[in-house]
Order: sequence, then C-alpha cells, then structure tokens
Amino acid sequence: MDLIVGAGISGLGYAASTPNDYQLIERSNDIGGYCKTFYNGEYVWDCAGHFFHFQHPELRDFVMSNIPDEEVIQVRKQTQIYYKGRLIDYPFQMNIHQLEQQEFIDCLYDLFNIPEEADSPASTFKQMLYAKFGKSIAEKFLIPYNGKLYATDLDKLDVDAMGRFFPYANKEQIIRNFRNPSSQSYNATFLHPLRGCIRIIDSVASHVDMKRVTLGEELIAIDMKQHTAQTTRRMLTYDRLISSIPFPQLLSLCSVNYDPAIYSCNKVLVFNLGFDKKGPERQNNWIYYPDPSLVFYRVGFYDNILQQDRMSLYVEIGFGQGDQVPPADTLLERVLDDLRKIGVLTDQRLEAYNTVLMDPAYVHITHQSETDKAEKMALLSNNDIYSIGRYGAWKYCSLEDNLHDAIQLAEKLSQQKDSLHL
Ligand SMILES: Cc1cc2nc3c(=O)[nH]c(=O)nc-3n(C[C@H](O)[C@H](O)[C@H](O)COP(=O)(O)OP(=O)(O)OC[C@H]3O[C@@H](n4cnc5c(N)ncnc54)[C@H](O)[C@@H]3O)c2cc1C
Repeated sequence: MDLIVGAGISGLGYAASTPNDYQLIERSNDIGGYCKTFYNGEYVWDCAGHFFHFQHPELRDFVMSNIPDEEVIQVRKQTQIYYKGRLIDYPFQMNIHQLEQQEFIDCLYDLFNIPEEADSPASTFKQMLYAKFGKSIAEKFLIPYNGKLYATDLDKLDVDAMGRFFPYANKEQIIRNFRNPSSQSYNATFLHPLRGCIRIIDSVASHVDMKRVTLGEELIAIDMKQHTAQTTRRMLTYDRLISSIPFPQLLSLCSVNYDPAIYSCNKVLVFNLGFDKKGPERQNNWIYYPDPSLVFYRVGFYDNILQQDRMSLYVEIGFGQGDQVPPADTLLERVLDDLRKIGVLTDQRLEAYNTVLMDPAYVHITHQSETDKAEKMALLSNNDIYSIGRYGAWKYCSLEDNLHDAIQLAEKLSQQKDSLHL
C-alpha cells in the first residue's frame, strides 16, 4: 500500500495517477493545501493569487476537462511596478525606458558598465543581480523587491534561487524592448476558474477514490525500518510513503538528524479585502511594490481578473522565518493606510476581509540546502520514502510542476512495482 501524506495538489495528483493501492491522510479538514478558495458573499478569494499557467497541454486537459469552459477565464497578464509614484511595466529590467529620464540613464549606464570583478561567476543571488544588470537596476528594484519578498539577505540565496521564474534578460533584449515590448514570460497568459483555484483541486480529486482519503488525520512519526507510520488516529503499515509535507518536518518525523538552519524560508501573510465598489480605473492583475516604506510587496486585483464590479484585493506581506507576525487586526489599518498612500484605496468602504498565513511560503534555496537535500532524499528513497511538492521537494515551483512531478513519480513507482512482480 502507498501511504500518501497531504491532500494538496501533489498528494492528490499522485493518488489520481497511481495504479497502486493507496491510503491518503491529510491533517486539515479540507483538501487543497495552499490551493484553497474562500467565499465571502460575492468575493472569491484564494490563498493569495493562485493562477494556472500550463506548459504541458496534456496536464491542461487532465485538469480542465472537468471544468466547464464557461467557468474558466483566460487572462492576458497585465502587471506593473509602482516605482516612485509611477507605474512601469514588469519586469523592471526590461522597462527601464519608462522611468524618469535621469533614472533611465543611470540604469542604462550601469548596465553597460558592470565592473570587471563582477565578471567572475556570481555565487549568490545578490551578486548575480549586480553582475547581470548593474548597480542601478539591482538597487532600484531587484534587491529591494526580492528582499521584501524573501525577507532575508539575498546574499544567502543561491544564484539560481528562483530558477525559471526569474525574468532574465540580456542587454540586447532590454534594448529591443524599448521599441518592441515582449510579452514573453512563463505566465504571459493564465487560466483561472471563476469560482477560484479550488475548482482545479476538485477536478484532480474527481480522479481520486475519496473513500481512501482521511481528513483531520496527522502523521506524527515514521519508523523507516519497520515501514510504519503513526498518525493521530492509528498505526499504518506501508510499502511506500509519498509525502508532500515540508521536507524538514518529514526529516524530523523520520528521526533523521538535520541542521534546521539549512532549511530556512519566509512566511507570507495574505489579506483578502472586499470593498463596496470598484477602485480607480486600472486593468492590472497585480502590482509589485519595492518601496520599503510600504508594508506589502504585492497587491493583486481579483476584481480585474474575475471581471467583478467591486474591488477585491489580495495583499501579500513577507516575514522572515523568526519574525513574529502581528495580529491581523493590528496590521489591517496599516495595510489600508498604505493602500490609500498609493492611490488604490480612495473612498471605497471595506466590506469584508480574511487573512491567511502561508508558512512556509518561499523556501530559501541555497547551495547548502540543495546539497543536503539531495543526500537526505537519497537516504529516504532507499527506505521507500519519497518527498514531493513545493515544500516536500523544498523548491520554487508552480502547481503545474507539482502535478507533473506527482504523476511522474506515480509512473516510476508503478513500473518498479511491476518489475518486482515479474
Ligand atoms: C504567495 C504564494 C503564491 C503562489 N501563487 C501561485 C500561482 O499563482 N500559481 C502556481 O502555480 N503556484 C503558486 N504558488 C505555489 C503553490 O501554492 C504550490 O506550488 C502548491 O500549492 C504546493 O502544493 P503541494 O501539494 O505540494 O503542497 P501543499 O499545498 O502545502 O499541501 C501539503 C498538504 O500536507 C498537509 N500536511 C502537512 N503536514 C501534515 C502532516 N503531518 N500530516 C498530514 N498532512 C499534513 C497540509 O495540511 C497540506 O494540505 C504560490 C505559492 C505562494 C506561497
């Protein structure tokens, strides 16, 4: 029996595609993990924006075939950066020509005058930003924005900490973009169910035998040698254990020693806010805020995405791992004040809100975490334990990546099982 832990997209994706006998346990009382939706009157809120940008047509069909076309909206992404009182297109490095003239000259000059010593390969994320884009682009946007998001010193992160999600651009692409704006990015268009991202989960779950899923059951210990798992309700014996819980937690449950400092991450507090009417005319799906005096790093406009006639926002605030997150009520006024400062909030009245704390949210990928993870993953898989998902595999990835990895693992393990029986 395959014991699957966690009913987010990874755990459900594995259950939906394995031919093996399985049991799935989930600590919370709902399926979905971070891909959940909250309904409050007319407002439809996810845990921060959760949008699907497909790279694999077969996964798109797998997920979307269960959701009627009229319930899905395809959105052409419109995102901007609020920089010194003006909005410029995202990504910053491709749109420096939209800055005020002196700022533009600084960025362009520095882009073509990157100091010699920076030619040696960068070994941290921050060094990479300076080496690829020069001082001004790095210091005006890339460092303050990513510093707010990750809530850590960017010198601690690996060069490739954001993988394909970082919008790289060379000098030629930057200059070409002055005249011919490029719309190429990993999520230039995205799909979104009108009733929120939980519809994606429901679609995947429709391929799962829900009689084999137990909610409100937490995994609390694993005996790797005996292949047994202690939960809050019972002792289970498994052939293989497929976990999507955060990797360091899995190591603890398996009694594998590790250095917690290696596995650091940020946490994100999300405010979902519903107002009585539309805000000032703008089409943005979301806007980035590098200004350190503003509490949030990004604000998303559900009403523009879902074409609703009342302003509905998600506001994301980054915290360091050790930071105390203040009670939501005390932060709410600060959030509303900052929304007024930037002109998003004028005379609209707040009608409803909720908060979601995502912890972990963005893992801090470092050279050490990658090396340690590879070593410990090998130890676990030698004991028939597989750790998948954004937090299980301790990486930066999307919902589609999670589904892809889960299906691949199910295929791999079913072949292994077949060969054992040959
Ligand atoms: C701010 C933010 C915005 C994002 N936006 C997007 C986006 O727009 N598009 C996109 O594609 N991706 C987005 N993502 C990424 C996306 O949320 C993740 O890739 C995805 O939800 C991870 O799914 P998962 O199943 O791997 O993990 P999770 O969703 O974390 O699921 C793990 C499950 O395990 C359960 N669990 C934990 N411990 C135990 C235990 N001991 N016993 C039993 N169960 C347990 C948890 O309750 C949870 O349900 C975003 C992430 C963040 C932080």
